[in-house]
Order: sequence, then structure tokens, then C-alpha cells
Amino acid sequence: MKRNVLIVGAGGVAHVVAHKCAQHNALLGDIHIASRTLGKCQAIIESIQAKGSLQQAGRLQGHALDALDVGATKRLIRATRSQIVINVGSPFLNMSVLQACIETGAAYLDTAIHEDPGKVCETPPWYANYEWKRRQACKVAGVTAVLGVGFDPGVVNAYARYALDTCFDSVQTIDIIDINAGSHGRYFATNFDPEINFREFTSTAWSWENNAWKANVMFEHRKDWDMPVTGTHTTYLCGHDELHSLSQNLGVPNIRFWMGFGEHYINVFTVLKNLGLLSEQPVITARGQEVVPLEVVKAVLPNPASLAPDYTGKTCIGDLIKGVESGQPKEVLIYNVCDHKACFEEVGSQAISYTAGVPAVAAALLIADGTWDTGEMVNVEELDPTPFIALMNRMGLPTRIKDEHGDRLLEPQQPVTTMPAYAR
Ligand code: NDP
Repeated sequence: MKRNVLIVGAGGVAHVVAHKCAQHNALLGDIHIASRTLGKCQAIIESIQAKGSLQQAGRLQGHALDALDVGATKRLIRATRSQIVINVGSPFLNMSVLQACIETGAAYLDTAIHEDPGKVCETPPWYANYEWKRRQACKVAGVTAVLGVGFDPGVVNAYARYALDTCFDSVQTIDIIDINAGSHGRYFATNFDPEINFREFTSTAWSWENNAWKANVMFEHRKDWDMPVTGTHTTYLCGHDELHSLSQNLGVPNIRFWMGFGEHYINVFTVLKNLGLLSEQPVITARGQEVVPLEVVKAVLPNPASLAPDYTGKTCIGDLIKGVESGQPKEVLIYNVCDHKACFEEVGSQAISYTAGVPAVAAALLIADGTWDTGEMVNVEELDPTPFIALMNRMGLPTRIKDEHGDRLLEPQQPVTTMPAYAR
């Protein structure tokens, strides 16, 4: 059993993580939120109190922290007796927070691949440049580290593993499809940190084709998908975190990531990029000030969390998997639909933050009760997906499956003895 959670970051995803931890504090224990700006931690705590999210009376506290400072992060982990750290700060922090966990023995979770401020769209497999270099250190220290456990990366990795385990004899293709059919009513905004959002698309779009990496140009390949509830939407082939681990762990020859974009997003993005305003490289202004254009764009765009009150519509994110079972070709879609307004009513967030935050807390619960407490560094597809999917079905993120038998809730079948106590 592991108890007491330290949440790093106080942005949109951290807001959801904190609410969901509060809803499950009987198992998780004390909840601490640490970020650069203490006021943002306190605003989340006030929101938890206003919504009455705490499952039972318990400790809920905010802390100012520069999480790039490994020593300060270690001191906070020890002072708060946190045995689980959910890192939902900026992805520039991953390696520092991971190191603090290795040195204190706390379990580590994050929802995105580590980023170096000066680089974008790194050489695949990107995890090998950063997190995977600490695999051995985690093993020696017996530290559980679950990488990329948001929705994508995260849940989509578990869907891929579930399909391989239970639906097919062999899989040829996994297409991960991410559609946000919602509307926030602003001229232009991103659904999570604009800096990170743009960095995903400003250089090479890597895909995994015929067991090899293929470099694509962003917006080069487009495809329409007819998804449940949200209907037909245009998507574009993108590089994305989960490809960098799924390609190495599953033995599937083709894995691609498709994200839905409207014409308006592409037009604004193209203008900003062509003007050089999405560059991560610093420039010097006429007054001699050094500025990073991308950071300036972030500063003038709406804070993604502020979109939540007006957001309407739904997201649909899932894996379309094609392969063979008993000699017959087969196709399965495993997916979730999430409603922006319902998320706002429950925790005060929009669906992109919600779909990223809930899986991280489900994973923390599975570490707390021992089910996923492996004492090693893993990506999500290396873990048994059944308790994870079963638990999320009860936490606001139900999984559905569409195959030759129809479209229905996916209730993973597993012997009750291997079902985590928490999901029973
Ligand atoms: P935000 O930008 O809203 O929040 C980031 C937080 O990190 C802010 O509170 C920021 O503090 C804090 N922070 C930045 N630097 C430091 C530092 N040095 N020390 C302490 N805190 C720091 O991001 P989101 O909540 O939208 O996203 C959080 C993470 O989730 C990101 O890694 C993102 O890529 C990932 N994500 C994953 C998804 C998935 O499905 N897997 C989907 C969406 C997001 P301050 O406010 O002071 O700047």
C-alpha cells in the first residue's frame, strides 16, 4: 500500500487530478499540490472545497515549488511523506521530478514525454533520449514509474495492449484517432499548454510504418474518420508521444496518430509558424531583450483552463485496430466519448484536461493498492490494461468497444482475484 500524493503543477490537468484524488482520498491519503505559483495551487484547493469533492475529511495543502530544483522537490516529498508523485507540470520538468522520486523512493507518474526547451519533435524513439535512460536506476531503487498515463499518451496505449491480448491473433495496424468536436467560442485557443501543443506540430511528424520510422511533413497526410457520437471529422497525421513506446513494445508494424483540426486552426497555425512566431529559438528585440517567440504567443493566448465554463460538445478518442483472428481479417474500435459540459459540472474543467487527468489518478489508485506497483519504469502498454479500464469505467471515463458484435461498454473480463480491490 502506498499513501499520500504530491501533485506537481497547478494547470488545467492538475486541477482535474486534484479533484479526482480528493474524490478518492480514503485510499490515497493526504493530497499536496506544488507548483511555481502558490496562488494557483490555492485556487485548486478552493475549487475542491467549493465542489465538496473530498471523499472524507483529509489534508489538502498547496506549496510553492520550482520542480527543476531536485533538492527542493526531494525535501517536499519527504516533508509531506508522499509515496506517490503525479507530475502534471510542464513536460520540461519530467527528468528533475523523476530524479527526485528515484532518490526518495516515491512512485512517479506523468502524462507527457520529457521535453528539452531548445528542441522539438526529437529523434525517435524519443523516450530513449530521456526517461528510458533512468530505467535501470528505477529498477535498482525499486521505484515504480508509469510514463505517459494521460489519455493520449496513456489510455490509448492500454487500449492497444487490450486489443492485442484479447481480440486478435496478430495485429497489422493501429490508428489512434483524436477528435475534439467541442467548441470554446474563442477566436483561437489551444486545449492544453499552447507552448507544448504547438511544439508537437512545428517540425517532423514521425509515424511507424512497416516496422520503421517514417518522417512526414505536418498536415501532409489527411484522412476523414467517421467516429461514434462526434461523426465524420478531418484529421491529419501527426507525431505523438505514444508512438515512441508502442512501436518498441508491441511488435505491431504500423502505428499512426491522427488528430482532428479545423480549417481555422490550420490557418492561424500556418500564419504564426510562417511568421516565425512558433519558434522555440530565442530572438533579440530592438530593445536588446531576448525573447522566445513561442513563449510570447503562449502569454497572449487564453489560458486553456479558462475555456472550461463555455465549452460545449464532445471528444472522441480511440484506437482503430486491424488484424487477424482465426484466419479472418478483423477490425475493432476501442474508444471513449467525453462531454465538455459534464466535466465542467463535475470538476470545473474542460474535457481535454479531464481525459488527461482521470487516467493519471486511476493509475495512482492502482499503485496505491499494489496492483500496478511494479517497482520498475514502464510505459502503459507494459501493464495489465484490464484493472485500469475497469477502474476508469467507474471514474467518469467509460470505455466502449465497437466490433462485429456491435457497439457496447467494454467491461474487461478478469478473474475476481486479480481485480484490484478498488475496482470491485
Ligand atoms: P499547464 O500549462 O496548464 O500547467 C503546467 C503547470 O506546470 C503550471 O501550473 C506551471 O506553473 C507548472 N510549472 C511550470 N514550470 C514549473 C516549475 N519549474 N516548477 C513548478 N511548476 C512548474 O499545462 P496542462 O495542465 O495543460 O498540462 C500538464 C501536462 O499534461 C503537460 O505535460 C501536458 O503536455 C500534459 N497533457 C497530457 C495529455 C494526455 O492526454 N496525455 C493531454 C493534455 C495535457 P505556472 O502556472 O506558474 O506557469
